Amino acid sequence: MDMEASKQALREQFEPIVTAMGFKFSPDKEIVEFLLEQEVNLHAQHGIPFCPCKGLTGDRTEDMGKVCPCIPWHRAHFDRMKRCWCGLYVHLDVDDPDKLPQIPEELG
Ligand code: SF4
Repeated sequence: MDMEASKQALREQFEPIVTAMGFKFSPDKEIVEFLLEQEVNLHAQHGIPFCPCKGLTGDRTEDMGKVCPCIPWHRAHFDRMKRCWCGLYVHLDVDDPDKLPQIPEELG
């Protein structure tokens, strides 16, 4: 597998989708590279780019909410944090992702 080409393919696939939802890839390039690499591995394993930060249960319905980008399933929560749970995506106006809190959904 060509990891760099696979990451770039995911980037090109996801970018227009998340932009339409008011998100962009995090300016933290290191975390983006790391998370995309995990997603490439999950895609190779499952045929689906699952979330690298959420464990799979094996329940197809539940796990479908963990397909990246999962923003539509967690919109209110992610909008409150201005980032997705992993931090792969942030709101379009975010320049410094380190200032964003990661708040558990039940506390948010
Ligand atoms: S939390 Fe972020 S990285 Fe994880 S699936 Fe959702 S959008 Fe993708």
